[in-house]
Amino acid sequence: MYSSMIGKIAKAKQYAQEPQRIQFTHFEASFRGENDTHTISFNQGAWSCTCNFFAEHDTCCHTMAAERVFGVSIPADQRQGEPLSIDFTPSR
Ligand SMILES: [Zn+2]
Repeated sequence: MYSSMIGKIAKAKQYAQEPQRIQFTHFEASFRGENDTHTISFNQGAWSCTCNFFAEHDTCCHTMAAERVFGVSIPADQRQGEPLSIDFTPSR
């Protein structure tokens, strides 16, 4: 019993060095922003956030930050990435 537990702990340490082994399929979390707390979720590649910006753009600083934090645990073909072309022209 004791020796088998030692083996499991050693395996856990090895696995923890290889985070790509963990691939999220879905989760929900609260995100404490500077002005408000939002709920972010990820479900089979689809991000969602309760903030106003996400409603208009299908992405926001909360989902982009979460993707950076979770890194390789977001399946590669489902990573949203950050928009590469952004129109910085101020809207009037
Ligand atoms: Zn958001």
